[in-house]
Amino acid sequence: MPEILIRNADTVLTMDDARRELAGADIRICDGLITEIGHGLKSDGAVHEASGCVVTPGLVNTHHHLYQTLTRAVPRAQDALLFGWLKTLYPIWARFGPEEMFVSAQVGLAELALSGCTLSSDHLYLYPNGARLDDTIAAASELGLRFHPTRGAMSIGESDGGLPPDMLVEDEAGILEDCIRVIDAHHDAGEGAMCRVGIAPCSPFSVSRDLMRNAALLARDKGVMLHTHLAENDEDIAYSEANFGCRPGQYAEELGWIGPDVWHAHCVKLDGQEIDLFARSHTGVAHCPCSNCRLGSGIAPVRAMRDAGVPVGIGVDGSASNDSGNLVSEARMAMLLQRVAGGADAMSAREALEIATRGGADVLGRHDCGRLAVGKRADIAIWDTSGVESAGSWDPAALLLAGPTRVKYLFVEGRQIVADGQIATLDLGAAIRRQTELARRIGAEI
Ligand SMILES: [Zn+2]
Repeated sequence: MPEILIRNADTVLTMDDARRELAGADIRICDGLITEIGHGLKSDGAVHEASGCVVTPGLVNTHHHLYQTLTRAVPRAQDALLFGWLKTLYPIWARFGPEEMFVSAQVGLAELALSGCTLSSDHLYLYPNGARLDDTIAAASELGLRFHPTRGAMSIGESDGGLPPDMLVEDEAGILEDCIRVIDAHHDAGEGAMCRVGIAPCSPFSVSRDLMRNAALLARDKGVMLHTHLAENDEDIAYSEANFGCRPGQYAEELGWIGPDVWHAHCVKLDGQEIDLFARSHTGVAHCPCSNCRLGSGIAPVRAMRDAGVPVGIGVDGSASNDSGNLVSEARMAMLLQRVAGGADAMSAREALEIATRGGADVLGRHDCGRLAVGKRADIAIWDTSGVESAGSWDPAALLLAGPTRVKYLFVEGRQIVADGQIATLDLGAAIRRQTELARRIGAEI
């Protein structure tokens, strides 16, 4: 891939080990890597002028359900708590198939890219009408985003005392077989990987104890990561105590679901002992502040987690419970929500941006991403701070305190994904039109 030079940025927020902030700096990238950061660099390749811009590492999204991009703001789910919200949406999601999975992933990932995201995970836990994880992987590959899809699953339907309808649950042997298939077909363990697959039973209340344990054994055998929802709200804790006789942290520990190769979404209700457990074991957390607000779940103890040493990243969560997928706005919400709980000095803009970049990359086991340093992957977000949103600011913290909320340029593995604020790799207008048709058809049927 030819050399690219990003020149004369107002500020480069490196998020490197020294957290350097460089004024008037340049970044040279070649073959998907950052090869030089400094001043007055020259290049024979393409030059991107970054004066008037703040440059950051690409943001990392640690939790999403891309398929939900097709079910935003569904009327009967707008004001429900988690379990009621799920019960409203399950029958709608049961109508999806491969095209819905592909188009919603395309639109959801494009939305993320425009908000500075270069690496996203996804948690797909239902496979109706022939849908496969491969449908979302194809969408990410076409767009050019770095992608960590997880093969989710639900196996306990309503007739067995679970929450999802029986038509959306799968047989456990078949789930594990398909996990092996998608890992063998798509997982790349190497440095600079564009696709890494994880294993992700939906939640302790939608699969059996056996599946949780077998998923952990399979993940360790294959060297892939584990992901699920945990301790999301009070109902979740009550379910765990009533059905498993313990809190979610203890349940996770008993089943092998802790360690640096595990990250859990939400964790709003972790108590002090569970936070210590996660810190000791380097178990990661995907913090999803907008979804937690939207579903009234509470404020995750992120300050306590960070102080204890728990790896924390930011996630937008599914577009049916946010209902936006703007990652830089999510980082802003993380900062604001900690301040609601702990005061104005509970989290700085710089710390929230760090969580959204290198924090998320570390949660996903991607120490090659999430920071701007020589030898790291060329995943770079360039924000035009000369516009109306940030006018009057002179500190790069304004990116979270003021704006903008959309990138000017975005590079993934050195490839330009966003140019002049528009997706450069696919016809986003056509994808949105198709998504709108599909959503209207579903809306008309329910
Ligand atoms: Zn979720």
